[in-house]
Parts: sequence; structure tokens; C-alpha cells
Amino acid sequence: MNKHQGRHFLQIPGPTNVPERISLAMARAVVDHRGADFPELTLRIFGNLRKVFATESPVLMFPSSGTGASEAALVNTLSPGEKVLAFETGHFSTLWKDVAHKLDLEVVWVEGDWRRGIDPQLVEDRLRRDSGIAAVLAMHNETSTGATSDIAAVRGAMDACNHDALLLVDAVSSLACAPLPMDDWGIDVVISGSQKGLMLPPGLGFNAAGPKALDRARRSTSRNAYWNWQAMLDNNSRGYFPYTPATTLLYGLDEALAMLLEEDMENVFARHARHAGAARAAVAAWGLENVCVNEHEFSNSTTAILLPEGNDADQLRKIIHERFNMSLGTGLGKLKGRCFRIGHLGNFNDLMLAGTLSGVEMGLELTGVPHGKGGINAALEFLATASFPEGKQPLLFGR
Ligand SMILES: *Cc1c(COP(=O)(O)O)cnc(C)c1O
Repeated sequence: MNKHQGRHFLQIPGPTNVPERISLAMARAVVDHRGADFPELTLRIFGNLRKVFATESPVLMFPSSGTGASEAALVNTLSPGEKVLAFETGHFSTLWKDVAHKLDLEVVWVEGDWRRGIDPQLVEDRLRRDSGIAAVLAMHNETSTGATSDIAAVRGAMDACNHDALLLVDAVSSLACAPLPMDDWGIDVVISGSQKGLMLPPGLGFNAAGPKALDRARRSTSRNAYWNWQAMLDNNSRGYFPYTPATTLLYGLDEALAMLLEEDMENVFARHARHAGAARAAVAAWGLENVCVNEHEFSNSTTAILLPEGNDADQLRKIIHERFNMSLGTGLGKLKGRCFRIGHLGNFNDLMLAGTLSGVEMGLELTGVPHGKGGINAALEFLATASFPEGKQPLLFGR
């Protein structure tokens, strides 16, 4: 098998496949980011970002990975010694908790089994017990498990006890994959990155900052310079940045936002829900188990699949990579070797899904993982029959 022929299937849950339209948009000379022409590009980007984040509030961008944006949200809105409430939904929530610790925040950590999203009842219970909590940190899509938390319900739980905490949401692997209407759901900060649903290469981190978060930011005593929102906002209002932005990625972002808005966000979400449903139809036919155990929390962007005890998921991934030139997501943290993950997000269509699932099914066969036949057929059947009539797209998670 010649690995250098044909295209590589990059089916990890981010970075995702970059469409040619975006690559070509980035193949341009770098310009003066303090020049007179620059704001024409950046002000259009800021306007379109607000549409994609579904907010009237400013969306700030940093030349950083998603982790940088997570740190930015914490250092701007909170002060050392303040208490935050965080939930162990999987690897990424654990990493965010660790960032909070390193910034001298006191983390109230609610342990979990890495198989479900945040329980809104626990949010309410903890907040009722502790009026001193300054922020709730919520993972929207836990990319390590494929479980999506019901953020509207988390907000509801906070409202039920009239708690004043901020709601900070990590949407790195759910922005432009699943609905997260920031203003409608009363989210104070949405954190994201460029390399997942936005279909760009890695390198941009985002903070969408609502009015209450901006107000807290004015009172924060955290030391920060690079991540400082105020300097960023002052410059952004004129279409500029306090330091050099990732100019080339901005060309790509401009194109990515145009593509998403042309497709219309409701259709983008429905497309993701449909592909996720088809991937799960294949998993069911294979007789394999989803890491996520709650059907209403199944992710639009990632399917994490457990292998039967005694099978090494990384060996399966290795064989699939060698034989079929496809990369699948590894099990992270305590799921290492136990599961593999399929990313079905970003620039993705029916045939890419069919190719991806074919590679998985052939890999299961090659490595002798016990499984049922007919996964591909089940997925194709799902694609042929599942439709979301106009205006009736799944609002929350879809199938
Ligand atoms: C990918 C991801 C991140 C971190 O992104 P980096 O760019 O690797 O720093 C954070 N949170 C979630 C949920 C992610 O999927």
C-alpha cells in the first residue's frame, strides 16, 4: 500500500481538514497590520465572528492555541484566590482545571467518570452551598469523550439559585458544530480556537466576552499583559491589535466565516448532527460501545469508541494509519489505549464520512477486534433516511 498516493484522511477531532478555499485565501503576501487598509479586513471579521458566536458582544482573538484562550478567559475575569466551580467530564476539563490551579484560583472540583456531561443538578447543589464561587467553568463538548454538556441547563441551574457567578464555556471543539447561542443562553465568556469547527490551521484563540465578564475584567487583580482584554478591545475598536496578529490566519478566518455564513449556521449544525448520527449508526452495527453513555449528550463533532477489554486502540489506530493513510484521535488521559475517536467536524461531507468509516471497519477486521459487520451500510442507510426539514433542525444535540 503506498501511503503517498491519494489523500490523507485527517479524522482526528482537531486540527481538522482545511478546505482548499481557505488554503488559497491564505496564500497571499503578508501586509502591514498597522496600515490604512487593514481595518477593512479586520472589522468585517469582527462583525462576522459575532454572528458565528451568536452574540452582540466583542469577540477577541489571540495568536495562540485554544489553551491560551482558556488562560486568557481566566486571567481577565478572575483574581488570584477566587473560587471557581469545575466539573470533571474528561481530559480537557481536567487540563482547564490545572490551568486554573496554576493561576492561583481555588478550584472546587466535582469528580466524574468521563462518560457524561455536566449534571445541572450538581451545579445547582454546589452553588447553593457556596455563595463565594466567582465562576462556573463548563466544557461544552468534551473532546476526549464525545459528551456534550447541556449549557442551557447549566445556565438554568445557576439562575435557579440566583447565583452571581460568571459562566465560562470552553467551545473549542463545538463552535460551528453544535448550537451555543451565547447571548440567548446567558454565557459570559465563550472560548474557542481556529483549528476545529472553523476549519483553519491551528494558531488563533478566541474569547467572546459578555457585558458582565467585561465588568469583572475591570476589577480583576490578576497580572496579565499579553492576554489583556482592555488593550485588545481598545485597538480592535479601530480594526487594529496591540501586537502583531497572525495576519495570514486572518485571511483564512475571513474566508471561513464567509463559508459558514453562506451555508447558514442552522444548516452547519444540522450537517454535523447528521454525520454524527450516521457515525453512531455504524458504531451500533459494529456492536461497539460509545464512551458517552447519555444519548442526549452525544456529540455533534466527535465520536469516542471503546474497544472490548484486551484490545489496544492505539494498535488499531497505528494499523489504520499505515494501511489506509488515515489519522484517528487517540484515547487521552485515562482513556489512553481504551478508545479511539473519530472527528466528524469542520470541512466534512457524506463521502468523507463513508471513507472514514470504511477505514475504521477495515482496520477492525485487520486487527481482529471482535465486531459486527455492516457498519458502513448502517451509516449509509442513516444518511439516506435522516433528514432535518427546514426550520426543524435539531436545536440542541440532534441524533
Ligand atoms: C482542542 C481543545 C482544546 C485545546 O486546544 P489547543 O489548541 O490544543 O490548546 C481545549 N478544549 C477543548 C474542548 C478542545 O477540544
